[in-house]
Amino acid sequence: MPISDQEKLRIAIEHRFGYWICRNCGARNPINAEKCRRCKSKNLRPKRFKH
Ligand SMILES: [Zn+2]
Repeated sequence: MPISDQEKLRIAIEHRFGYWICRNCGARNPINAEKCRRCKSKNLRPKRFKH
């Protein structure tokens, strides 16, 4: 099943605004996340794309 346009848009928005990398487990989290979706840690650091 191909990726929907909505999914592409979501990814594009995340890449534009950056995302959070969990310092605890290294998981990538959406920029609006308050805590890691994998380990629930709030120890997140920002990661931004530079285009
Ligand atoms: Zn984590």
